[in-house]
Amino acid sequence: MVVKVSVSPNKRCADQEDVCHNRWHPDIKPAVEISPDDEIVLETLDALDGQIRNTPDTSDIANIDAGPVHPLTGPIYVKGAEPGDLLVVRILDAGPLGSFGYTFVTKGFGFLRDVFDKPYKVRWELGRHYASSPDIPGVRIPAAPFPGVIGVAPSREQVREWRSREAGIASKGGLVLLPDPRGAVPSREPIASEGLRTLPPRENGGNLDVRNLAPGSEILFPVFVRGALLSVGDMHYAQGDGEVSVTAIEMGGVIRLSVSLIKDGARKYGLKRPLYRPSPLAEAYKDYICIAGLNLDSAEDATSAARDGLLNMIEFLERMGYDRYQAYILFSVAGFLRLSQVVDVPTYTVSACIPREVFTRISI
Ligand code: ZN
Repeated sequence: MVVKVSVSPNKRCADQEDVCHNRWHPDIKPAVEISPDDEIVLETLDALDGQIRNTPDTSDIANIDAGPVHPLTGPIYVKGAEPGDLLVVRILDAGPLGSFGYTFVTKGFGFLRDVFDKPYKVRWELGRHYASSPDIPGVRIPAAPFPGVIGVAPSREQVREWRSREAGIASKGGLVLLPDPRGAVPSREPIASEGLRTLPPRENGGNLDVRNLAPGSEILFPVFVRGALLSVGDMHYAQGDGEVSVTAIEMGGVIRLSVSLIKDGARKYGLKRPLYRPSPLAEAYKDYICIAGLNLDSAEDATSAARDGLLNMIEFLERMGYDRYQAYILFSVAGFLRLSQVVDVPTYTVSACIPREVFTRISI
């Protein structure tokens, strides 16, 4: 049987609570109940819950409210799923819900947030095969859609444990969004105050932002609560490895999935994380140029090496005629940070690569 869960793209998540939520919590009421081997078609709202407008004006980016991030469709209750099982999710198809997509830079977020701190927006026209933009002329990005967020519900105990784990990180100065009822859906207590934010990926999956979780891929989630409670959202038309600006090509989406269960599988295989089989269909490119990112002033530091590669690639793209915000955003949607080696002490290599195929006007 095919079960469909629709959303209204012109309404906020809060106005369609029966099918939408934006926190992780085991007590959120399921939107639908399915049997293993049913197919399910889900429509999803965009990551910012409609806050970003299709206009060049950036006041929407400057005034982003992080409370409603990310609206998720679900939860989906899978009959027969019990803690200790594995929920196998096959991604069969994915695509945009409309033709508008966006990528942005906003103050306080992104891998290079100390360098890029001004609001900047790129609007995309999402075609069947490519996205193009009036804001970055001379490029086209092949469609490679996938869900940024896909995960199952944590148990009550995990909600408590993970909250205190993240509070510990925050107390050491880490950038963490802790539970906050402002903008929470559902807004009822105690879910609004206890529900975990959707920004970090965790043991239940969530905001993994793995671009290869595209049609043809398979993800196995350890089940933590009865019914598994699968939720999906934050669909991306395309994304590089890194999603460096904090956004991909964001869109409302449609995704078709099938699910099945491996009874007692999480216990049997000792799986405490999602296990996935990436899709070869996500490989839209064949021809790259790369710059070697190196941590030349520190020892065994992959973050510095990645940063070095990215900054050098942005500088290179500036010489090709792009402004540095366009270059940062282009890298976010089509650039790849690849861990090439972690052994040549004290210096690691992170290759920062851009596919040559995205350029329609210049050749690099
Ligand atoms: Zn996203």
